[in-house]
This record gives sequence, C-alpha cells and structure tokens, in this order.
Amino acid sequence: MSNYKDELQAFFGENCLLNEPMHTHTTYRTGGNAEVYVYPQTPEQWEFVLKVARSENIPLRVIGFGSNILVSNTGIGGITCSTKKMNRIVVESESITAQAGAPLDKVCELACKAGLVGMEKLSGIPGSVGGAVYMNAGAYGQETADCLEYFDIMDLEGRPATLLKSDLKFSYRKVEGLPPCIILSAGFKLRKGNFTQLLAARNSVQHSRVEKQPLEFPSAGSVFKRPVGDYASRLIDAAGLRGLSVGGAKVSEKHAGFIINFNHATAQDIKTLMDQVRQKVKEQFGVELELEQILWGEFED
Ligand SMILES: Cc1cc2nc3c(=O)[nH]c(=O)nc-3n(C[C@H](O)[C@H](O)[C@H](O)COP(=O)(O)OP(=O)(O)OC[C@H]3O[C@@H](n4cnc5c(N)ncnc54)[C@H](O)[C@@H]3O)c2cc1C
Repeated sequence: MSNYKDELQAFFGENCLLNEPMHTHTTYRTGGNAEVYVYPQTPEQWEFVLKVARSENIPLRVIGFGSNILVSNTGIGGITCSTKKMNRIVVESESITAQAGAPLDKVCELACKAGLVGMEKLSGIPGSVGGAVYMNAGAYGQETADCLEYFDIMDLEGRPATLLKSDLKFSYRKVEGLPPCIILSAGFKLRKGNFTQLLAARNSVQHSRVEKQPLEFPSAGSVFKRPVGDYASRLIDAAGLRGLSVGGAKVSEKHAGFIINFNHATAQDIKTLMDQVRQKVKEQFGVELELEQILWGEFED
C-alpha cells in the first residue's frame, strides 16, 4: 500500500493535518484525534481526496462545523474532510447561493439584511450550510428544506451533480434519498419582504436562544429528536434527569434537551449520559428517544 498520507500532504500542503485533535473542530469541545484532516476547496481537490480514499480503501468523512457530532475519545481513523474553507455566499435579487462551509447564520443574516424572507428563524443555528442541508436543520417552525431550491454534490466516485429539492424527501431532521456524497453548495429561493420585520424576527430568535439554551457551555444542541407529539426535553425533565451528570457531562439545568460539557467531559462521559437518559425515559414513559446527534468512532456501551 502506498502511503496515502504522504500523497495527501504533498497535494494539500498546509491544508492537510495529521493527528488533528477533534476537540478543536467540534462544539462539544471533546474527542480524540482525526488520523488525517484535510481542507479541500475546489472540485479538483475533492476529486483528488476521493480518489485517494477509494484507491486505498480508506474511510472518508465530511465535517462542517462539528455542531452535531460527538467524536469518541479514541478518535477517528481515515480521512476527515472539512468544508470550512469553502465559504462563499452570493446574494441575488430573490435567491442566495452559498458554499457548503458558509456559516448558516451568516446566510440568514445576509438574507434578512437584503429583505429576503424564508430563513430568518434559522438564525443562530451554529452549523454550516452543508450540515444544515444534510440534517435538514430547523427551528421555530422553519426548516432548511423550506427555502432550499437545489444543491450541488459530488458523489464518492468524484462525479458532480445537481439535486433539486424535489428529488429528495425532507422531513423533520431527516433527508431521504440522498446518495453518499459531498454537498458542495446550496441554492436557496427566498421572497421579498420587509427588512425591519425580518431583522426583528432574527433578533427575537437570537434572544430566545440566549434565554433558553445553555450557550455558555459547549454542547451540540438537542441530543434527541422530538418524539411524535411530545418534546424530548419535557420527557427528560419529567423523568427527573435535569442536572444528571457523568464525569464532566451533565443534562443541562437550563434546557433538559441539551447535554453540556461543563467540566472537561470525555466523549465517553457524554455517550454514557446519553445512554442513561435514553434508558430512564424508556423505563418511565415507554418512549424510545432517537439520537439526533451523530457519533463518530468507537464508544463503550
Ligand atoms: C448551541 C446549539 C444549538 C443548536 N440548535 C439547533 C437548532 O435549533 N436546530 C437544528 O436543526 N440544529 C441545531 N443544532 C445542531 C447543529 O447546529 C445542526 O444540526 C447543524 O445543521 C449541523 O451543521 P454542521 O455544519 O455543524 O454539521 P456537522 O456537525 O459538521 O455534521 C453533521 C452531519 O452532516 C454531515 N455533513 C456536514 N457537512 C456536509 C457536507 N458538506 N456534505 C455532506 N455531509 C455533510 C456530516 O458528515 C455529519 O454526518 C444546534 C447545535 C448547537 C451546538
């Protein structure tokens, strides 16, 4: 086997890092190292890294802002590709095109400032555009899919394609029909509205987040999806789990749907706490909470 790390380092230069600590790339601020961490920025660079991964049979992952991912203590092998350096945003009369690594909140801000309606309630979601499309991120009754028109991808063979929203089925934090791919950019269709009202709506959402969410601690937002007809946070609270802790991880006292890293939590602390919460809610209410967050690497049960 040729040394794929040398190949990537020669091609990407300073945009290829070895043994990169993932606590610096995830909002939980914990987790082990990524064996190889690269920043592809152009289609040619994506094609290259995909070709290396395919030819050497190396696992390849894509990360946006790591705001919905928990990386295990022992880290992740293979190649992790960050979209962070692909962050161009273009605002046109009633649409916005953004590269996958553009901050979703920045896109929302520009939309509001341009008097464009449709994304204002997504303000404050701390993810990238690619992560928002992949997760169909949403808040306060608005979802990414609502204003999404199309997105550009590259499949794992390095072939580009454009997918229309109508090609896929988007539902609550779920996208069905998406092939394994890299999301490169997305186009949003918005409509003209009132600039002052939009900024007020954005401010109100931002204010509500500060008031209700434990933003002063590292977390990855809501741990579990909303079960049908209920809220995970209500069930967790009703089960008496607010404030429950494992090591440096704790069920937030401010918002029981969040697990916070309040004191140098290991990823395993967080995972063990997730399991305890799920088990106790199941025991008390018979409801199976489904994880919204994504686990990367090996964890103990
Ligand atoms: C304080 C806080 C509040 C939050 N509030 C909300 C909220 O209100 N609503 C909500 O929906 N979420 C919320 N989240 C969760 C998170 O911000 C969203 O899920 C966000 O969309 C994740 O984007 P990301 O760029 O961080 O993705 P990452 O966490 O980096 O990745 C998530 C998944 O998307 C995949 N992915 C990312 N980019 C790409 C790409 N370009 N191509 C292919 N796959 C890709 C990754 O492989 C991974 O599987 C919150 C998180 C925090 C920390």
